[in-house]
Amino acid sequence: VAKSEGKARFVMYDADRNARQAARYTLAAAIPDALDRAEFTVVYQPLVAFADERLCGVEALVRWRHPVLGTLTPDTFIPLAEETGVIVALGRHVLREACAQAASWPDVFVSVNVTVAQVREPSFPAEVAAILAETGLDPRRLVLELTESAVMDSDGAPLAALDCLAGRGIRIAIDDFGTGYSNLAYLRRLPIHILKLAGPFVDGLRESSSVDEQIVRTIVTLAHALQVTVTAEAVETRDQADRLRELGCDTAQGYLFSRPLPPESLIPLLRGAACAAHP
Ligand code: C2E
Ligand code: MG
Ligand code: MG
Ligand code: MG
Repeated sequence: VAKSEGKARFVMYDADRNARQAARYTLAAAIPDALDRAEFTVVYQPLVAFADERLCGVEALVRWRHPVLGTLTPDTFIPLAEETGVIVALGRHVLREACAQAASWPDVFVSVNVTVAQVREPSFPAEVAAILAETGLDPRRLVLELTESAVMDSDGAPLAALDCLAGRGIRIAIDDFGTGYSNLAYLRRLPIHILKLAGPFVDGLRESSSVDEQIVRTIVTLAHALQVTVTAEAVETRDQADRLRELGCDTAQGYLFSRPLPPESLIPLLRGAACAAHP
C-alpha cells in the first residue's frame, strides 16, 4: 500500500511540476507583447542620506501590471526574462522610462538595476549614452546597479564597459553586496562608487554586538578607504538605522523611510530633497 501511495504522490508531484513549468513558459512568452502593450511600469523607492535623512535619490524597480494576474514583482519574471534573453529589451525599457522620469525631477539621482546579459552586450554603453541624450538626463544623476557576478567578465577581469560608463560620469553601484562570493581584492580594480549592503546584514543588526555588526564595520571601512559610499538596503527599524549610522553607512533605503512609490506619489517627497549628484 505504502509503495503505491508513494507512486501516486510522485505522479501528482510530477504533474504539478509540469504545470508550474508550463506556466513559467507561458509567462516568459508573454513578455514581448506585454512590453508592446506598456504593461511594465516603474516604481521608485527613496534613498536618504544618513546625515539628515532627506531624500537624495531613488531606485527604479520594475512592476508588471499583468491584465489577469495583477501586479507582479520582479522576482516572478526577471529570472524568466533572463532565461529567454528578453531581459535586454525589458532592461532598456526600464532604463529609458527611469531616465525620462528623473529628467523631469529636481536634482536627485536615479539608480537602475542592470543584469549581466545587458552589460555584456557590446552596444550597452552606446545605448545608455543614447538614452541619456534622448531624455536629457545628466549622466551624473544616473547610477547603474550591478551584482558582484556581473562586474567581471568570464576571465575574472573587470568589465571594460564599466570604465566606459564611469568615464561619462555615470556612477556604478554593487547591489546586494556581501551575498555573492566577494573577492574584496577586485574592488580596487573596479570603477565603482557605491556599495549596497545586502539586506541580510542589516537584518543581522537586530542582535547587539553580532558578527554581522563586525562585518558591516569592516565593509564600511574598506569602502571608505576606496572612496566608495555605502548604502544600507532593507532598513526597516529605527534601531537598525541608528546602528547603521553609527557604523558609518552613508545612505539608506527601506520601508522605515518609504516603500517603492509610483512617480506621482514621489513628487511631494522631492520637495524635501537634499543632495544632488553625490549620495
Ligand atoms: P534590489 O535591487 O536589491 O531591490 C531592492 C528590493 O528590496 C526591492 O524589491 C524593494 O522593494 C525591496 N525592499 C525595499 N525596502 C525593503 C525593506 O525595508 N525590507 C525588505 N524586506 N525589502 C525591501 P523588488 O522591487 O521586489 O525587487 C526585487 C529585485 O528585482 C531587485 O532587488 C532587483 O534585483 C530586481 N529588479 C527590480 N527591478 C529591476 C529591473 O528593472 N531590472 C532588473 N534587471 N532587475 C530588477
Ligand atoms: Mg537594486
Ligand atoms: Mg539590492
Ligand atoms: Mg537584487
